[in-house]
Amino acid sequence: MSDKLSTKERLRIPRQKMPEREPAERRVNFCEVNLGLGGAVAQTEASRCLLCKAQQCFYGCPVGVKVREFVELIAGGDFLAAAAKMREDNVLPAITGRVCPQEDQCEGVCVLGKKGEPLAIGNLERFIADYEREVGGVGLPKNAPPTGKKVAIVGSGPAGLSAAGDLVQRGHAVTVLEALHEIGGVLVYGIPEFRLPKEIVRQEVDNLRRMGVEFKTDVVVGKTVTIDELFNEEGYHAVFVATGAGLPNFLNVPGEHLCGVYSANEFLTRVNLMKAYRFPEFDQPIYDCRDTNVGVMGGGNTAMDAVRTSLRLGARNAYLIYRRSEKEMPARAEEVKHAREEGVQFMMLTNPVEFLGDDQGRLAAARCVKMQLGDPDASGRRSPVPISGSEFVLPLHVAIIAVGNRGNPLVQASTPDLKTTSKGYIVADPEMLKTSKKGVFAGGDIVTGGATVILAMGAGRKAAKAIDAYLRTGEW
Ligand SMILES: Cc1cc2nc3c(=O)[nH]c(=O)nc-3n(C[C@H](O)[C@H](O)[C@H](O)COP(=O)(O)OP(=O)(O)OC[C@H]3O[C@@H](n4cnc5c(N)ncnc54)[C@H](O)[C@@H]3O)c2cc1C
Repeated sequence: MSDKLSTKERLRIPRQKMPEREPAERRVNFCEVNLGLGGAVAQTEASRCLLCKAQQCFYGCPVGVKVREFVELIAGGDFLAAAAKMREDNVLPAITGRVCPQEDQCEGVCVLGKKGEPLAIGNLERFIADYEREVGGVGLPKNAPPTGKKVAIVGSGPAGLSAAGDLVQRGHAVTVLEALHEIGGVLVYGIPEFRLPKEIVRQEVDNLRRMGVEFKTDVVVGKTVTIDELFNEEGYHAVFVATGAGLPNFLNVPGEHLCGVYSANEFLTRVNLMKAYRFPEFDQPIYDCRDTNVGVMGGGNTAMDAVRTSLRLGARNAYLIYRRSEKEMPARAEEVKHAREEGVQFMMLTNPVEFLGDDQGRLAAARCVKMQLGDPDASGRRSPVPISGSEFVLPLHVAIIAVGNRGNPLVQASTPDLKTTSKGYIVADPEMLKTSKKGVFAGGDIVTGGATVILAMGAGRKAAKAIDAYLRTGEW
């Protein structure tokens, strides 16, 4: 139908809205907020695509998804073919369709966005991935004949998973070693259920298992086994290190040791992986947030996830405390909108300078100072400057620090010939992802610092290609 539409007719179709749960309903549970498009709506949305030759959307996608082609298939109603087209370049579409910052990538460069609203590429991606899963039509790619080569992947986040999928298809025996008891990295321990249901990640992991990838949990590389042992004792021919950036930064202010002060990583991991999100069915392995004041410090996706989680755990007041203004916040616009609708209180241009405790050593309040914006700093954003005499005390029962992370350090610490940056990230060449140690490749957040799911997946794909070439030629 859609190929018969004129450009004018396409331009007249409004962007189709993603249905979502009402704020009052969703802020009291962990059910997914966005509900997904139906088939007819997805077809209408796909019909907005101008099918332009330049295909900026393709270049705007870090893994080069052929957007125009899969969108055209949706418009024609061939949803399974659209999903198969997507899977040629993206092994985790149900995940990226939910969490990618499309507004800065494919949708950010969509021609429709110049005068109106861009094509809802992320929503369409999610639609076909969900459709494919629900009708049971996930067509797994065929693997090449076995090469006899063994590859170990350290870390099961998006970088490790996408490398695993590509390598197993090339005929190599792939084992993913994960320190935690669940596979998925940030996708399961960081991003909450209401944005990315764990079942979706589990099913994508199951697809990889069905393709032949072996997963081993509770293996802390650097402690349980070293990289050298993987080569010398376990017979691996190559290793891909994809350990992510899970080491939290702190504010380094007095009182940060008090009970009730968490890093966002600890808070989210406890909720996501220790089932606090199913409280009261499961015991809550964190401070009881019900009827409390919770303050989350930071302005990124992690801060937004933590503050919205605290609301769902029953916080009376959930404050988002950020030292710059809303304009500088790195969080996705959709997360900010959802947080505000759910009742998160935004305290912009505010910075905690001390945490104050009670006589039991528990957090009681944060002493904060108001800020104003000065000249741009190294990040290009205007730097926050304290306003003298503006200090005030904010009563808080729980404080969650979400001011960025650094690289997980154990592999580097136990592998002396692995070159690292001054900040502790692994040095890898940008094209081949080779490290300073023969046979060891690295990619994702452990090389770039905290980035995005799709960039980590792109690194995984690059690494798979380079590892395959190394295993076939032996050339380093
Ligand atoms: C709370 C939160 C929300 C986010 N929201 C978004 C979003 O909406 N959209 C988006 O695009 N990006 C988001 N990000 C960023 C994104 O999730 C990361 O950039 C991405 O997950 C990085 O992938 P990775 O594979 O490099 O590492 P990770 O996902 O961090 O996975 C690394 C894995 O390695 C394991 N590991 C570490 N050390 C060892 C070891 N020594 N031995 C064995 N295993 C080890 C870890 O346990 C972990 O499972 C978010 C990040 C956080 C923290």
